[in-house]
Parts: sequence; C-alpha cells; structure tokens
Amino acid sequence: MTSVAVIGAGVTGVTTAYALLEHGYDVTVIDRERYAAMGTSFANGGQLSASNAEVWTHLGTIVKGLSWMFRADAPLLVNPWPSWHKYSWFVEFLKNTSSYQQNTIETAKMALAARKHLLSMAEAEEIEFDLVEKGILHIYSDRKSFEHAADVTKMLNEAGLERTAVTNEEIRCLEPALCGEFYGGYYTPSDFTGDIHKFTRGLAEACERKGATFLFQSDVESVTTMGEKVELCIRSKGADKAAPTLFDKAVVCAGTGSKQMAAKVGEKINIYPVKGYSITVNLNSEASRQSAPWVSLLDDDAKIVTSRLGENRFRVAGTAEFNGYNQDVRSDRINPLVGWVERHFPNVDTDDVISWSGLRPMMPNMMPRVGKGKQPGIYYNTGHGHLGWTLSAFTAQIICGMINQK
Ligand SMILES: Cc1cc2nc3c(=O)[nH]c(=O)nc-3n(C[C@H](O)[C@H](O)[C@H](O)COP(=O)(O)OP(=O)(O)OC[C@H]3O[C@@H](n4cnc5c(N)ncnc54)[C@H](O)[C@@H]3O)c2cc1C
Repeated sequence: MTSVAVIGAGVTGVTTAYALLEHGYDVTVIDRERYAAMGTSFANGGQLSASNAEVWTHLGTIVKGLSWMFRADAPLLVNPWPSWHKYSWFVEFLKNTSSYQQNTIETAKMALAARKHLLSMAEAEEIEFDLVEKGILHIYSDRKSFEHAADVTKMLNEAGLERTAVTNEEIRCLEPALCGEFYGGYYTPSDFTGDIHKFTRGLAEACERKGATFLFQSDVESVTTMGEKVELCIRSKGADKAAPTLFDKAVVCAGTGSKQMAAKVGEKINIYPVKGYSITVNLNSEASRQSAPWVSLLDDDAKIVTSRLGENRFRVAGTAEFNGYNQDVRSDRINPLVGWVERHFPNVDTDDVISWSGLRPMMPNMMPRVGKGKQPGIYYNTGHGHLGWTLSAFTAQIICGMINQK
C-alpha cells in the first residue's frame, strides 16, 4: 500500500487525510500540536462562504486599506517594521491585481464545489459541528461599497452562485435581531456556517477509525527526497533528536508553516501569516440567546463576519494584521469586535467573551497552492488564506486526484 505523510492536522490536512483514506492509501498525519485543529482551524469566523470569494487584490480594496493604516481601530493593521518577507509579499500581491477577476471567479467555483464534499463527509461520519443553514447576509453602509458589491455579484453569478440585493427593510426581515441602518445588502441563501474545530476534530476521529496514524506533538524538522521516497525527520516531544521516517509521498498542509516546509526542499511558497481575531460570545441568558442572530453576517464596512454556533455561542471575527508570526491577543484589536456586538445586538450580554487570534496562511494571489512540488513525491495543499474552511473539502479532492495519477 502506498504510504502518504500529511504534514499538518488543521482542516486542510485532515480533509486531505480523509480523501486519501477513501482512495486506499496508508496515511500518517503529523502535527506539532497535541490535538487536531489547534492552529488557525481553531476558532475562525465559521462561514462556508462562496459569497465571500472576492479576492483582495482589487485597487479599490488596496486604496481603502491604505486609508485604514492611520486609524487605530481599523480592520487592517500593518506593522511598519521592515521585513523582507512582508514587503516581498506586498509586491507580489500588487502584481496580482491583474488576475483579480479570474481569481475571484475561480475561488467562487471552488467554494461551490466544496459544499457537497464537506456535507457528505459530515453526514457519513455523523459529525456534529453546529451547522446552521440560514445563508449569509452581506451588509453595506454606503452606496459606493454597495455598488461594488453589484460588480462582485456579476462575477459570483458567472461562477454559478446566486445572491440577491436586499433593501434595509428586507435586511430587517431576514435578521430581525440586527440593529442599525444600512445602505443595502446582498443575501446568499445557499451559504452556511459551522464550527471548524468541531468538524476537523470529528473528521480526525473518523480518519483514525479508518486506519490513519496520527503523530501529535511531533515536529517535522526536515523533508528530503530520497530517490522515489520522501524522508521526514520527525522529532516527537521530549525526544533528543529527530527520527528519520520514509514515506512514498508527502503532502504539505502546514498552514503558515508551509513556507518553511517548502524551503526545506528548495521551493518558494510565499505564504504570509495574516493575523485575525475572533471572539466567542457565550450566550448564557435567555435574553442573549433571543437577541443574537441566526443568519450569518458579513459587515463590509467593519470587515467583520459572524456565525451562530448552536443555541449558546455567537462567533464574531475580523481584522487583517501584518505583524509576522506574532500571535498575541491584543485588547485594542478585540475591543472593536466586542463594541460591534454591543452596537448591533444591544441585548446580547458581553460579560462572557473568549478571545482568540489566528494566522491566515495567505498567498499573494489569494489562491491556495494545490499541486505537485518540484521534487518527486512532494505535494502541497495549503495557502487557503481567509477561506480555508470554505475551500478545503474541495482542494482535498483535487490533491488526492493528483496523487492518484500515475
Ligand atoms: C480570524 C479568522 C477568521 C477566519 N474566518 C474564516 C471563515 O469564516 N471562513 C473560512 O473559510 N475561513 C476562515 N478563516 C481562514 C481559515 O480558518 C484558514 O484558512 C484555515 O483554518 C487554515 O487551515 P490549515 O489547515 O491550512 O492551517 P492550520 O489550521 O493552521 O493547520 C496547520 C497545522 O500544521 C501544523 N504544522 C505546521 N508546521 C508544522 C511542522 N513543521 N511540523 C508539524 N506540524 C506542523 C500546525 O501545528 C497546524 O496544526 C479565518 C481565519 C482567521 C484567522
């Protein structure tokens, strides 16, 4: 049986492992954490959002981003301290404005294709992950952004996604809990939400039942190709030195660690860790539960996304911070999220809020890197940026298909 190592047990690694097991491979998943889904796949925005497929490489978005750089509570924060990684990434990002339209359409197509795979995995393995199928409502506070949304909608339509413009009154009908005046909105009934952590943990358990080996608290220190084989040097927690282990193939699904992993085999994968924050508001009182929304929201002005995770939890996420691999949870980034909840849902208590930060593994063209590496036996399924939860069920199938090709 062909042995495949999957490096990383986040959502991309575990969906890849599952797809490989379905095709009869001998799968070993390696992660430095103690459990699956402890990295970026821990507490994200929860949206499975084809409607959020627009890539950020648009001139208007870049101009808006620059204006935000001087506002302390803005959704974008760039640490100006010089770093070759950051500035080279920005240069590549700017070069990709020409593929904005093509990449947006391609992303929307992938997101649409991912839906059925994700739902069928959850159904087959009976994974409970607080799935809420009530659509995603984008809200816009000014005419300019609403008109831009109309242009984006044309691209999404081209990819096969239906979303409808809604008035302020229709917004109120769709989500009565939401307070505020908006210029307008766009509603995508077919999008949905769920808890990425619960899903990934449930799928990891299913992989184990199907025969996968999980090596947790194990760091992949090096990757080397040895003829037809791939050698990984894996150091388990507490071990004096790394143990070399041979596999037929290896798939890099290491999130923001994929850049370093690729460099070990002489490849450049320019993933930048774009930090984001989330809060999970525990809805402890009946009044809070009644006053929190069920329809998932994307506030275009604040760049905030929300998901209702079952009766008792409300997840709110946002911010893009370019600050290297630093994962400190900063109160000046968390406070705007809490303030946003208090403004739009004044009857939701915010006395029990769990804060988190995560690093989006972002490619400069905003497209995941899915494919064969330059070295034999090495594959990549990584760099899913702000849409890893939305896309990975599909990219796992793609990479598995490539490995299957003789
Ligand atoms: C605030 C925020 C909100 C978001 N909201 C959404 C959303 O609403 N919808 C959506 O689709 N996406 C969203 N995302 C993006 C999504 O969460 C990520 O794209 C996705 O979780 C990335 O998964 P991954 O498997 O690539 O990375 P990870 O989950 O980080 O997994 C990578 C794993 O690799 C392991 N690893 C790395 N290097 C090594 C090594 N050398 N040895 C061993 N193990 C290693 C790490 O320990 C980690 O567990 C959001 C992200 C953030 C930060």
